[in-house]
Amino acid sequence: MDKKSRDKKEKAMSCSFCGRNYNAVKRLIQGDRSVYICNECVEACYTLIQKDRTDSTKHFSKKIPTPASIKKHLDEYVVGQERAKKVLAVAVHNHYKRLVSDVSDDVELEKSNVLLIGPTGSGKTLLARVLAKIIDVPFAIADATTFTEAGYVGEDVENVLLRLLRNADFNVTRAQQGIVYIDEVDKISRKGPNASITRDVSGEGVQQALLKMFEHSIVNVPPQGGRKHPEQQYIQIDTKDILFICGGTFGGVESIIRKRVGKKAIGFDAKADFVDDKSAGEIMSKIKIDDLIEYGLIHEFVGRLHVIATLMPLDQDDLIKIMLEPKNATVKQYQKIFEMENAILEFSRETLIEISKKALERKTGARALRSIFEDFMLDVMYDLPTSGKRSIYTVTPEVVNGKSRLIPQKLRKSA
Ligand code: ADP
Repeated sequence: MDKKSRDKKEKAMSCSFCGRNYNAVKRLIQGDRSVYICNECVEACYTLIQKDRTDSTKHFSKKIPTPASIKKHLDEYVVGQERAKKVLAVAVHNHYKRLVSDVSDDVELEKSNVLLIGPTGSGKTLLARVLAKIIDVPFAIADATTFTEAGYVGEDVENVLLRLLRNADFNVTRAQQGIVYIDEVDKISRKGPNASITRDVSGEGVQQALLKMFEHSIVNVPPQGGRKHPEQQYIQIDTKDILFICGGTFGGVESIIRKRVGKKAIGFDAKADFVDDKSAGEIMSKIKIDDLIEYGLIHEFVGRLHVIATLMPLDQDDLIKIMLEPKNATVKQYQKIFEMENAILEFSRETLIEISKKALERKTGARALRSIFEDFMLDVMYDLPTSGKRSIYTVTPEVVNGKSRLIPQKLRKSA
């Protein structure tokens, strides 16, 4: 190539966006044929895209749903638990009001992390999950029992923020407005007043680590996960606007509440017995911060969970509603699968009662429903794609109990 044509080519090697020549920039990236982009234009584009993302999340927070509309959405998925839904709706509404409030204002709205207390399978996780869906923010879930204090065998508490970041497609701004649900916080209660004998790394140690995260702190999150080490690059997450919801069953706390409420009753009108007539759920709804501290949560930890909501144990009626009513109710899901095969699936009222009885026996709330269905539906689901066309299947209590098979009846042409 002669000098003239080389000069011509070099001259042509300039950024197609800003026009700067290749020797005036650090890096010039070639695209298709003679299209180029310089490092500075790449950076400018990246900033623009990031701004768009930030604006879109801000846009969301300007249109915060009202508590009533949050609750209405929760009603579509969660049966019962009226009080817990109300408490959450207000907490979340206020929380997101904080995000749009004027920070220069003297009155700073405080964050309101939530503690959900209720039996297994009563809808704690479901509530948190549906909330995140309603307000369209990233959601992450973690089990407190997997955590240990930093430096010990187990998982660092920061890993839940990495999950949140992943669910936000690594958009830090979005992750910083997300919801984190930490389950089984009752299992990280203190091992006893003399925890100094052996270090309480999975109890009080974890509570200490979590409470730092609950407040306003900048947490270094290792993007690859795992334990932190000095050479690693971190992503910094500000937890100020992350809503933390904790959940736990707090088994055995009833006796602490009874003791407190009972004593108080004696003090006032000597009618201590009234407590014994209350159902477990009602007793739980009387829970106070002091009961949680006696149970083994440390003062500072409870202090950062500003709102406490108790969930009621689900009864037979609730379980039947759960099978039928929510948007993605189990019965609706199976019926849809059958419809896709041009078949009809029916459940009689007695059948639903039978299923709910079996679920109650398992003492895992609504969690048991799915596996009960899976048990008796397996064989028919196996055969359905080959034999189910234009048939009607009626599930009876005998089918649920494994005493008879679910036999298809042919549908008449007119049906
Ligand atoms: P936990 O209280 O132990 O966190 P989950 O929220 O995980 O229980 O509930 C397990 C499953 O049971 C949910 O995925 C949902 O299908 C069902 N479920 C539990 N409670 C309810 C409820 N109140 N309304 C509707 N479905 C529920």
